[in-house]
Amino acid sequence: MVILLLRCGADPSLIDGEGYCSIHLAVLFQHLPIIAYLIAKGQSIDTTDMNGMTPLMLSANRIIGMEPTSFILKLNPSVHAVDKIERNTALHWAVKSGNVNAVDLLLEAGSSLDAQNGKGETPLDIARQTRNRLATHILMNEMQAKSTRSYRLLKSLHKYEISLIALVIVSIIGAIGYILDLDTDSWLLKGMLLALVTAGSQLFTRFVDDRSQKYLPAIFFMSSLFWAFMTWFVCFLPNGAHSTIQIPFFLSMLSLLYFFYKTWRSDPGYIKSSEQETKQTIISLAEAGCLDPRMFCSSCLVKKPLRSMHCHACNCCVARFDQHCIWIGQCIGAGNHCYFLPFLASLLVVGHWMIGATSVYWAEQCTTTIQKDGLWDFLGEVIICSPWILYIFLIICSFTIWASLMLIVQIYQIAFLGLTTQERISLQVQNRHSQHQVSLRKTPFNRGCMQNLSDFFRCRCFGLIKHDPVDWTKQFHGVFHASMMRNAHTV
Ligand SMILES: [Zn+2]
Ligand SMILES: [Zn+2]
Repeated sequence: MVILLLRCGADPSLIDGEGYCSIHLAVLFQHLPIIAYLIAKGQSIDTTDMNGMTPLMLSANRIIGMEPTSFILKLNPSVHAVDKIERNTALHWAVKSGNVNAVDLLLEAGSSLDAQNGKGETPLDIARQTRNRLATHILMNEMQAKSTRSYRLLKSLHKYEISLIALVIVSIIGAIGYILDLDTDSWLLKGMLLALVTAGSQLFTRFVDDRSQKYLPAIFFMSSLFWAFMTWFVCFLPNGAHSTIQIPFFLSMLSLLYFFYKTWRSDPGYIKSSEQETKQTIISLAEAGCLDPRMFCSSCLVKKPLRSMHCHACNCCVARFDQHCIWIGQCIGAGNHCYFLPFLASLLVVGHWMIGATSVYWAEQCTTTIQKDGLWDFLGEVIICSPWILYIFLIICSFTIWASLMLIVQIYQIAFLGLTTQERISLQVQNRHSQHQVSLRKTPFNRGCMQNLSDFFRCRCFGLIKHDPVDWTKQFHGVFHASMMRNAHTV
């Protein structure tokens, strides 16, 4: 109806009896597609009502929760605008109504903590007057963070935050290993030192900001790899100096680092669009009656391509989304999936070399074997012999098990199903709740084992297989290959 009225010449800027124009009513009734359509049609996001309230102020004051404030903030409104009566900013209004979600979002968007209204009150003054403890806590935290950010030393440290975190995690892993390997029989002393390191690391993670938090597992992974390499260099290299072992190990380590870097640094297929493109997309989708979450991502303001998904960790839509891998700190999508598989395979090979070398070390350095003394005596001897080696062995074992399972699942999905992890899981969930079972193997994306592999690795196998690359960042409809369409009766 809105589209029809605008086509017939309706003026969206007219004000009703209560002083609102169409965009304010769309905000009050939480009609996000209408807000998007009105903005795309040229209405300003900072349009004021009779009292000088912008849509952002109305949303922060009247609608408790994330939406539509979060959506409006993506349309670049002015967070510093004030109303005509009380001269409050949107942050003042959010605090006044106790809308804690909106307070959080507005602070993230750069709202000023020092802004004063007509009575000279800051948002913090209002939070204290209304005895809203949570809002007071959030505002106080932001003030503290702002004051620490202003120190020059901390500012320069912030630049190298990831490198510093990596240095600290490498030191923590090293410290744990060093304590375990201490030349003392007192396990009480070791326990106390370990508790101290654990408490220190817990304290440290509190200082890591939200943006860097998602990289912590990836940094832990790389730090573990660093110590595994050092262990090989210091403990295993002098024992087994044969080039038949050393060269394959170093080559697999190099390939692991290379494919980790390629998976991490390659664009997984983030969907981006300019402001102009966004407006055109909103208008065309709205006029086609498709401006809904299946076709349009209200977080990224983009039209979702086929097989794409919004990653909440990266806050972006990713083409042919497979998963968000915490050990890489990156999404796995159309752009880097082909590097992820060799990364897993390299990790598996490195893990097996490390496990093999550890067994040789134990056989040579610890005077025990499972066959001779049984499992429990063997474990006891191994712990006493070198706790550091056991510690690195356990870390590497965990990563090797993860890589093995992940590699098996990935190869099965890619070669035999032609699906991503996300698609396989959603189909399985759908099958569990539906009477009409969909075969995982009969989807439009399964083109047969060899063709699936050729499409995935983008290779023709010396011209033996016909290769038709699909750009999944621009594929919006189900019509791509004739062979796919033959199967397109299930999804
Ligand atoms: Zn998105
Ligand atoms: Zn992600």
